[in-house]
Amino acid sequence: MNAKLQLPITALTGIGPTIAKRLERLEIRTMEDLLWHLPFRYDDLRETSQIVNARIGQTMTFEAEVELIANRQSSRKKMQLTEALLRDESGTIAAVWFHQPFLTKTIRVGDRMMFSGKVQAAYGTGTLQLVAPTYERAKGTTLHVGRLVPIYPTTANITQKQLRAVHFAALKYLDALEEYVPESILAQEKLLPLAEALRELHFPADEHQRDKALERLKFDELLLFQLRRQQEEQKIVRQKATPIPFDLERVKQFLATLPFTLTKGQKKAAWDILQDLEKPEPMNRLLEGEVGSGKTVVAALAAYQVMLHDFQVILMAPTEILARQHFASIAKMYASYDVPVYLWTHGFHEHAINGTVTHLTKNELAAALKEDKSCFVIGTHALLEEQAEFRNVGLVVIDEQQRFGVGQRDLLHTKGKTSARVPHFLSLTATPIPRTLALTLAGNLQLSILSELPHGRKPITSRVVLPEEREKLYVSVDKELAVGRQAFVLAPLIETSDKLGVASATALEQELRTLFPHRKLGLLHGRLSSEEKDHVLTAFAQQKLDLLVATAVVEVGIDVPNATVMVIEGAERFGLSQLHQLRGRVGRGEHQSYCYLLPSRMTPLVRKRLDAVVRAKNGFELAELDLQLRGPGDLVGIVQSGFLDFQFASLGDSALMQKTSVIARSLLEKDPQLHSVPALRQKLDMAQTGHKE
Ligand code: ADP
Ligand code: MG
Repeated sequence: MNAKLQLPITALTGIGPTIAKRLERLEIRTMEDLLWHLPFRYDDLRETSQIVNARIGQTMTFEAEVELIANRQSSRKKMQLTEALLRDESGTIAAVWFHQPFLTKTIRVGDRMMFSGKVQAAYGTGTLQLVAPTYERAKGTTLHVGRLVPIYPTTANITQKQLRAVHFAALKYLDALEEYVPESILAQEKLLPLAEALRELHFPADEHQRDKALERLKFDELLLFQLRRQQEEQKIVRQKATPIPFDLERVKQFLATLPFTLTKGQKKAAWDILQDLEKPEPMNRLLEGEVGSGKTVVAALAAYQVMLHDFQVILMAPTEILARQHFASIAKMYASYDVPVYLWTHGFHEHAINGTVTHLTKNELAAALKEDKSCFVIGTHALLEEQAEFRNVGLVVIDEQQRFGVGQRDLLHTKGKTSARVPHFLSLTATPIPRTLALTLAGNLQLSILSELPHGRKPITSRVVLPEEREKLYVSVDKELAVGRQAFVLAPLIETSDKLGVASATALEQELRTLFPHRKLGLLHGRLSSEEKDHVLTAFAQQKLDLLVATAVVEVGIDVPNATVMVIEGAERFGLSQLHQLRGRVGRGEHQSYCYLLPSRMTPLVRKRLDAVVRAKNGFELAELDLQLRGPGDLVGIVQSGFLDFQFASLGDSALMQKTSVIARSLLEKDPQLHSVPALRQKLDMAQTGHKE
């Protein structure tokens, strides 16, 4: 660690205690913090225009001489105005600032400066003026105008101008930054040195340099990720699990009790899993299949095999509703066996045997888990509570793994571990992660894909509905409700501040109440307690509600075969595979189902994306397309945090992901502990213990 980089920011001239305090709110304390506090976008203020070309309504930059500058009090609104007249070779333009009388001290008659701002017609006179322009002396390097201007994330009471000045001042500490990627790799991959990359990110020479700088940080992020992952995998490979013999007769008996036969995909997945379980190494398998593809029964079959050999099985689901749904369906599947099935969530502690469910206290449940030789424990992250202790776990199943943090997953895994053995591990997901991507994300991962839905499902009729057809749409929705069907209406996420979707869902529900005065409506958003959510969902499942307004942040992964309509408002804001998953909430019963994608605005790109959803037969196609089409910020829906929690890289960087995977492998093959590259090794250690740099 370099002492210079650890200097407090007050060591910079111009940073006094006041600004330092404000920067501290952005978690900036040292030079190093400052260097790593990066812009989130840039304003392109490179092009300077001649004043004669000023156009009303445009943001423009002029290099001009100050001919006049003075303060005055506006008569109309009692505002402090600073007015100036600017001149270049082509003409003159006025400039005005509000409530900044000190400007007459910084900007003086005769100064030659750059001015950047919006051109407007002055009230009354109609002459052109620049409104509150950013200004900067035109000599040497400019920071605020005449360049790609960095815009920093800030919540503190500090201006972009101040932020740019302190970041610029900090650049002289870049020399102290240690390069941790070996020279040979930098050369081979044509990467910018770290210090240069950071300089370009703060004050880019041009877009090309900025992109190269970003590429470098993505590379670092993915390389460290791959090194960590591959070292982790090395450890796991060395661990032992108990082999669970494949008992074909009992498997057949289990399958014979089901009211259906397995699809081809389910059979293949089950076969692969049962074979994995026979090995003395822990299974690490991801079972992917869209909503309704029947993952649960595959997991239940594997669990059955494991319990036959006197082991416990744990299944963790991301929400209470899903856990209860699993508990109900698995208890039913095991009704003819003497194995206990338990439910452990924050709100529910239950026991089922031979199909009979009884309530337990938490203590009773905890005691039972310490006793039972073999049992099936289903729950939420409540299973991570200290009180939940297991004995002899043979298999851990995690449903929708990407909804849990890596730490939570590991904790559950650790709980099931005995001194000598680790449990087999199966994760289920409805998120269609393309195979190549899944493999680069986890090299030792085995993959099973259920690409077909069980037979007897009617295809869902999907349609893109234009904003102007919205009223007509709701009339046709009402016809479905009139014959006894039910509908979901998904509320769009409009503002990022409305993370829980409370505002948008509430507003939509109120509007729909006026459109459907004769129907019963329910409302589901992220602010409701789990009991309240449960209450609403149960009412919907029992057909006490006709229409359910919900946000996508709320898991509506509940099986309601009578629901035949899914309306998705603000459809352009969702990822393609997420839209597909939402659509999968209907089409689960005997009736024809419909999905209406209702964008709040229509552009050619929106059209293209939504049409792809209408045509898509499965989520995998869409996931691939999402990867190609996705613009920045459209990460929702494919893989959320947990699997991938990158600051710079995204799923679209799959080529870089593969490349770093190969580089990491060759580094570790030569030198598993990375002794020959101490700086890289140190960087990796620090990233692991959660320290910055
Ligand atoms: P998911 O993959 O979304 O978790 P589930 O496991 O909840 O799907 O299965 C959805 C529904 O399909 C359940 O009601 C289940 O009983 C039923 N199901 C599963 N497999 C089959 C099959 N092979 N044939 C018919 N129905 C099936
Ligand atoms: Mg499921």
